[in-house]
Amino acid sequence: MPDSRSLFERLTPEGQRLMPVNYRFMEPLAEELGSVQRLAESSVYHADGYCCWGFHKPISRCCASSKPQSIQEDAREEEVSVEPIQTQPIDLVKKLRLGLEGVFVLFACCVPVRGARRSLICDLQRSVFCFIPNGLYKILNEHRGKTIAAIKALYGNSYDEVIEEYFEFLISKELGFWCTDPKCFPDLDFGWERPERITNAIIDADAASQHNYPKILSELDDLGCKALQLRFFCSPGQQELEAVLKAAAYGGLRSIDIIAAYNIELTVEALESLSIQYQRVNSVIIHSAPENRGCVIGRNVTLRYLAQAIDSPACCGQVHPRYFVTNLSAFAEARRFNSCLNRKISIDARGEIRNCPSLPRSFGNTSDTSLHSALAHNDFAALWEINKDQVEICKDCEFRYICTDCRAYLTSPGDVYSKPSKCSYNPYTAEWLPA
Ligand code: SF4
Repeated sequence: MPDSRSLFERLTPEGQRLMPVNYRFMEPLAEELGSVQRLAESSVYHADGYCCWGFHKPISRCCASSKPQSIQEDAREEEVSVEPIQTQPIDLVKKLRLGLEGVFVLFACCVPVRGARRSLICDLQRSVFCFIPNGLYKILNEHRGKTIAAIKALYGNSYDEVIEEYFEFLISKELGFWCTDPKCFPDLDFGWERPERITNAIIDADAASQHNYPKILSELDDLGCKALQLRFFCSPGQQELEAVLKAAAYGGLRSIDIIAAYNIELTVEALESLSIQYQRVNSVIIHSAPENRGCVIGRNVTLRYLAQAIDSPACCGQVHPRYFVTNLSAFAEARRFNSCLNRKISIDARGEIRNCPSLPRSFGNTSDTSLHSALAHNDFAALWEINKDQVEICKDCEFRYICTDCRAYLTSPGDVYSKPSKCSYNPYTAEWLPA
C-alpha cells in the first residue's frame, strides 16, 4: 500500500490546494487509522470537482450484459491556504483506532439505505455497494454521533463483540473512520437539478422507419439532451449508421449508445473505426449475432455481440443487479425523481413521441409535432416525479436508489405505483427468484 504522504504528493498543486481541509487534517492519521487509500481517493475526488459525477444515465435496460455484477465487493470543497499539516499525539491515534475515543463517521460518499430485511451502504465514489444488517443501519443512523462505549451501553453490553465486529467491518471496507470532530464532516447535498429540459432520449427504428434524423437531433440538441440511445430493431448497415452519427456530430450530446441487429458489415474493425471517428459513441450492442462475445474498441467503447434478439420495445424494462448504478448523480436523481423516465423523451419506430417507447401514450408524431410541443403538454412530465419511495414494494427495498425503475411493465398494469413486473427481487426475503 502506498504511504499517505506519497499519495498526497501525487495530487497536482491545484488538487492539493483544493483538498478539503478536513481530509487534509486527517491525512497524517490515515495510515494509523487504516484508510490511506480512501483518504487519498477522496482528496482526488474533491480536487477534481466531483470527477465521479459521470453524466451517463442508463436509459434502457433491454438485454443481458457481460459486465461483472457489482454486488459486493464530499465533504466540502473548500479552498484552504497551504499550511503545515497538524499532527495528533500517537496515543490519541491508538484510542481512535480502538474506538475508545471519538465517534465513527461514514465517509460522506458512503450512504446507508435501509431495506425490509437488510440494508446497503452505497459507496457513491467507488461505485460499489455492500450489504449490512439492519442492526448496523440502526446504529449508524439512530446512534450516530455516539461513542462506541455509549452504543454498547445502549444494548446493555450484551452485544459488545457484535458491535465491535460491525465497526471493524466498516473500517476494513474503508467505509468510514473514527474522529473526534464529526461535525466537520457534513453529509452530501442530495439535491438534484439540471439546466437541461431533457437529459436523455431514445430513438427506435426498424426497417419501415422514416425518421428525419437531422431534424430530431437538432430538436434534441435545443432541449439540451446529453445522452442518446439509438435502438435499431433491424440491421442498419454501416452507411446508415454513419449518416445518423454524422447528424449528431456537432450538437451537445455527450454519449450515444447504439443497439443494432447483426449485419455482416458491422465487424469489430468497422465499428471501431466508426467509434474513433464519432467519439460520442459510448457503447455498441449488436443483437441477433451468431454468438455472444464482447471486447473494448477505440477510445474505451464497449462492444458486445449478443445472440439474443432485441426486436421490439418489449425487450426493455429488465431489473437486475448488473444494471444497478451506484454513483452520486444517479443516486441523487433516484431519491427525488423517477430513475428511468425523468427528463427523458422517446421516439418510437413510427415516429410517435412518448415518455418511453413501451408506454402507450403518444404526445404526437415527429412528422407534424416538434419535440418542444410534445414536451409542453401538461401530462408529459407526470411520470417524472414518481420515485421509488412512492412505489409499492420498491419503497421497502434496499436497492431503491440504485435500481432503474420501469413504469411500462407493471405487476398491476392499472396501478402506476406498482412494482416493475420484470423484477424478481423480494425485499422482504432478500431473495432473487429465478427469472
Ligand atoms: S424491488 Fe423495486 S427497487 Fe428493488 S430491485 Fe426490484 S424494482 Fe428495484
